[in-house]
Amino acid sequence: MIADQLKKLKEELPEGVTLVAVSKTKPVSDILEAYQAGQRDFGENKIQEMVEKHPQLPADIRWHMIGHLQTNKIKYIAGFVSLIHGVDKLKTLKEIDKQAAKHRRVIDCLLQIKIAEEETKFGFDPAEAEALLQSDTLKNFHHLRVVGLMGMATFTDDANQIRQEFAKLKQLYNRWQTAYSFKVLSMGMSQDFLWAIEQGSNLVRIGSKIFGDRQYN
Ligand SMILES: *Cc1c(COP(=O)(O)O)cnc(C)c1O
Repeated sequence: MIADQLKKLKEELPEGVTLVAVSKTKPVSDILEAYQAGQRDFGENKIQEMVEKHPQLPADIRWHMIGHLQTNKIKYIAGFVSLIHGVDKLKTLKEIDKQAAKHRRVIDCLLQIKIAEEETKFGFDPAEAEALLQSDTLKNFHHLRVVGLMGMATFTDDANQIRQEFAKLKQLYNRWQTAYSFKVLSMGMSQDFLWAIEQGSNLVRIGSKIFGDRQYN
C-alpha cells in the first residue's frame, strides 16, 4: 500500500523536487515500509515523536523537523536532525546554534514565512525576515545555516488563493536566493503540492497521501 502510494506520487513529482514523507502519528512499521521502497527523507512535527522513532530506524534516514519548535526541546534532536523547517523566531535560531555546537554540527534551517491569511499560522512576516537576513545576526551563528524558506498556504478550497500565496513565497525566495545562497523552498502538502510545484517549490512535505489519513485521539 504505502509503497504503491509512494511510487504513484514519485511519478507526479518533477525532477529536482525532494519528497519529504510526513510520518507524524504513524508507526515505525509504516516508516520502514516506505524506507524499504527507497524513501529516505521523513518529516515529523513533534520533537518527542521524532526522538522516539529515530533510534528504532535506519541511520541513513534524513529527519526533517517540520513543526513548530519549543526552544527547550531542541537539544533532543540537535545530534541528528537533518533540516529544521519551522524556524520563526530569532530565539529559536539562537538555541539551534547553541545545541548544534555541542554536537560539533552545522544544522540546516529554513525560515518559516507567514503567507496564509489565517491568523493561526506561525512564521516571520516577510519584512521581519528580510530585516533578519540583512542584519549581521546570522553571521554570529557558526553552527547553523539558513538554506531557504518554508511556508504553508491557507486551508481553503480556493485554488487561486493557494496559488497566490505560494507565488508570494516564491517571489521572496527569488529575491533572497542569490544573496543568501538559498537552495530549499519547502512548500506543498497532500492537498496542494501540485500548485506548490507549479509555483516553484523544490521540496514537498506529504503525509496523508502516502500513509493514509491520520487518527488523532
Ligand atoms: C502534517 C504536515 C504536513 C503533511 O500534511 P498532509 O496533508 O498529510 O500531506 C506538511 N507540513 C506540515 C508542516 C505538517 O504539519
